[in-house]
This record gives sequence, C-alpha cells and structure tokens, in this order.
Amino acid sequence: MYSIKRLLKPILVPIWNRSCFFVWRTGEIGEALMRGRIARCVICGRLSPLVYRPWLITPALIERWGVSREVAAAIARKESTMCVWCGGKLRNRRIAETLLDLYRVGSAPLRARSIVEWVRNPMIKRLHIAEINLIEGIHSYISTLPHHSYSEYQDDYGDSSVRREDLTRLSYPSDSFDIVLTSETLEHVPDLDAALREILRVLKPGGRHIFTIPQDSAADRTFRRASLSADGTIEHHVTPLYHPAGDRGYLVFTEFGGDIAEILDRAGFETEIRFGPVTPRDLAQVYICRKPERAREANRRDDEPASDSARLDDRRCSVRDDEPSDFS
Ligand SMILES: [Zn+2]
Repeated sequence: MYSIKRLLKPILVPIWNRSCFFVWRTGEIGEALMRGRIARCVICGRLSPLVYRPWLITPALIERWGVSREVAAAIARKESTMCVWCGGKLRNRRIAETLLDLYRVGSAPLRARSIVEWVRNPMIKRLHIAEINLIEGIHSYISTLPHHSYSEYQDDYGDSSVRREDLTRLSYPSDSFDIVLTSETLEHVPDLDAALREILRVLKPGGRHIFTIPQDSAADRTFRRASLSADGTIEHHVTPLYHPAGDRGYLVFTEFGGDIAEILDRAGFETEIRFGPVTPRDLAQVYICRKPERAREANRRDDEPASDSARLDDRRCSVRDDEPSDFS
C-alpha cells in the first residue's frame, strides 16, 4: 500500500497542482471578463482580459507601508492588471504606450499599435536601446532589435549569463543610446544623483530615459531611506524597506515624492510625466527624461573620446526616410 502511494505521488501531485492553477487562473480571467476589463494589449497586440490581483498587496504590507486601502489598490493595479498573453502589467503597458507615441512609425491606419508591430519597423530597428532590468512583456519583443542592450542592475539576479550594469557607473560609452529603459529600479540605487548623471551621459542628445518608479502620492519631498558609505556599509535613516516583500527583497534607498520632476530637471533632463498626476487612485505614471541637444559635449567623461558609432547614429536618426515619424 505504502509503495503504491509512493509510486502515485509524483504523478498525482503535479496533476493536482495543475488543476488548482487552472481553476485559479480561470477564476481571475472570468472576473476580468465579467467586469469588462478587456482591451487590446499595446505590447503583444492581442485582445486580452486584464487580470487584477489585489492580493499582491497583503494586509501585512499595507500595515508596514502605512498606506490606505485606496493606495494599496492603486499599487496592486499598477503591479497587475496584466495581459494574459504577454504578462504585461499596467506600468509596463504604459511604458509601451509611451514608446509607441514618442516613436511613432507607420502611417494611419497602419500605424504600429503594439510593440510587436513597432519592432518590425526599419526606423525602430535603428534605435539603440538600453534596457536596464527586464521589463516584463516588452522585453521579449525589443530584445529582437539589433541594437538592444539588456542588462540587470542587481548582482544577485538569477541568470548569471545576463550582463550586469551598475547604474552609478555604466560601462557604455557616452552618447550611445536613443532610449534607456528602467522600471521600478531607481529607488534601489544607493546614489540617485550618480545614476542620473550616468544615464544622461550615455544618452545621445535628444535621447530619452523612459521609466517608472514607485511614488507616494502624499509625500511632497523625495528623501533618502538609506545611504551606502564608501566602505560598503549601509546606514538606515528610517526603517528599512525592501521590494517586493517589505522585509525581504531589494532595499529601497530613495523614497520619491512630489518634487521628483524638479530633481530630474536639476540633473539636466527635460522632464515630462505621462498618465499623471500622481494620485492615491493612480500611481502608474511614466517619466520621460529627455537629454537636451545642447548636452552633446557637456556630459562626456573627460577621459573618453566621442564615439564614432554614436555620431553615425545621430546622422542616421536625423534622416527622415519613408516614415512620417519625428523622433526628436
Ligand atoms: Zn499582451
């Protein structure tokens, strides 16, 4: 009897687990359909129920963060409301929408309406894009672009074959990229000013850093939760907070407040906020930081020559060929 149980267990447990997953998945998709949360996904282009997962923000997290239930629901919407096909959550679909709008390709009615169409366009294939931390949904499509550079910021990222980039000391040459993408990353950088300097440096003049960050709608000022000293020790100024679980995950060094656009402007960018304003009901804004044209030489490292490829790309992007888009 015991041996029959032992024999059947490896077969029955996976079947049970899959059945539970199927029932759970069907339930959340059914809930999305019943509430009319269905849309064409701007990442994969498919019609999809948008799955909302309020349980992502647990009562323990609500208590730890000291947020209202309204704010908790807004965070859950930002971190879910996801396409069932590509997994693109709200914040990533908004990044996709921003890319499609800023880098418009194709003439109406054939204008690219999803990232899957967007990456097929010859103009887009010319863009140099740095994706620093994987952006779910978008990554699988933009990684097919010839000038796409993917890296992870955190050293302990699971896949050791993935390139690592320290945002405070990027290895890329100056004026390299048309677009730098980060998503929920800047809050984990010990030295925000250094990261902004580096992103500005590696962007081509006219290039853009497009990103999302967590933001407290009630906080007027940005403040440092922790600092990293020269000897590598971490000084906590307030109770340590980690993402995603509050008490484990990646340490949050910076808490962003209502003055973030001023901070970004002071760092040398021309800042625009999409899907704003930040409210307790909507915390999924997309920030666009454009490197001014005049910054061409100002932010190059002293020890670094101008990149020939960057100059060539500048010329190429300024040519308007068969597409009506203006990327400036
Ligand atoms: Zn999708």
